[in-house]
Amino acid sequence: MEEELQRLVATARQEAAGIDDAAQLEEFRVRYLGRKGILSGILRGLGNLPAADKPRMGALANEAKAAIEALHAEKNAGLGHDCGQIRRGPDLSLPGRCSAHGRPHPISRVMRETCEIFAAMGFDIAEGPNVELDYYNFEALNIPAHHPARDMHDTFYITDSLLLRTHTSPMQARIMEGQQPPLRVVAPGQVYRCDSDITHTPMFHQVEGFLVDEQVSFADLKGVLALFVNKMFGSGVGLRFRPSFFPFTEPSAEVDIACVICGGKGCRVCKKTGWLEILGSGMINPAVFEKVGYDPKRYSGFAFGLGIERIAMLSYGIDDIRQFYENDLRFLSQF
Ligand SMILES: [Zn+2]
Repeated sequence: MEEELQRLVATARQEAAGIDDAAQLEEFRVRYLGRKGILSGILRGLGNLPAADKPRMGALANEAKAAIEALHAEKNAGLGHDCGQIRRGPDLSLPGRCSAHGRPHPISRVMRETCEIFAAMGFDIAEGPNVELDYYNFEALNIPAHHPARDMHDTFYITDSLLLRTHTSPMQARIMEGQQPPLRVVAPGQVYRCDSDITHTPMFHQVEGFLVDEQVSFADLKGVLALFVNKMFGSGVGLRFRPSFFPFTEPSAEVDIACVICGGKGCRVCKKTGWLEILGSGMINPAVFEKVGYDPKRYSGFAFGLGIERIAMLSYGIDDIRQFYENDLRFLSQF
């Protein structure tokens, strides 16, 4: 048996020398070292030997096995492919691979937060198309062709009657057309204007809100917006309404909050005024009600439009709007 083992190792050495790919090496391993391989057979056969021979023959068989394992390992390393590693399975002592966790973009966060504040006041949330008809974007909102207010919008036209919406206000007309009051709706979404500088991007986000019912007054508008500002910027933040003009609201007001940077003392961000404009609002113009078939004598309502980027810039103290869209991870990972 001793000779048999020596021959076996010699044969294995010869065979190993001729191996030149992984498949042959695997075949070699199975034949010699596998569970049903030659060496296993020999080791099992040791049981039949006389007790006196067992220790010596056992040791020789193990030496032969070690020699063939060494041949295999040497060849394996030579082929540059550690299939032994794969066969042994994963190394459970290695540290785990961490998956990178995403997080909401600051614009999405502010948008979500804004909608949640209004949803808590009973407003429904609705979304409309980004590619809009001229009719809903302008006509239905009391901005007929050649109205000077169209110039304020710097519109991206697709065809004469189709455009990228310049505000979320078309949702007022779309929803009122299909439903009867009472209505309480906020409509978040992207809007587009040909405009790009430190405070403007060609695409930005608005949340439109409106409420229509009998006997809705400007006091209701003030109450709803004051509650929103308290929730968004903290209670006790100063709030003021400035007369303004929008074709689809009458009277109209722009709403300022006391500068969150300087607390109203005056700084670079508020241009020394102590106030920051955050939204436009007003009582819905009866002409808009007439377009959608509501009786303006019976119903009244208010509408407002919030610029989400503006609110995000103030909430997070960001001074260049373009940072939101450069996708610089150093910027985004701060939120
Ligand atoms: Zn300031």
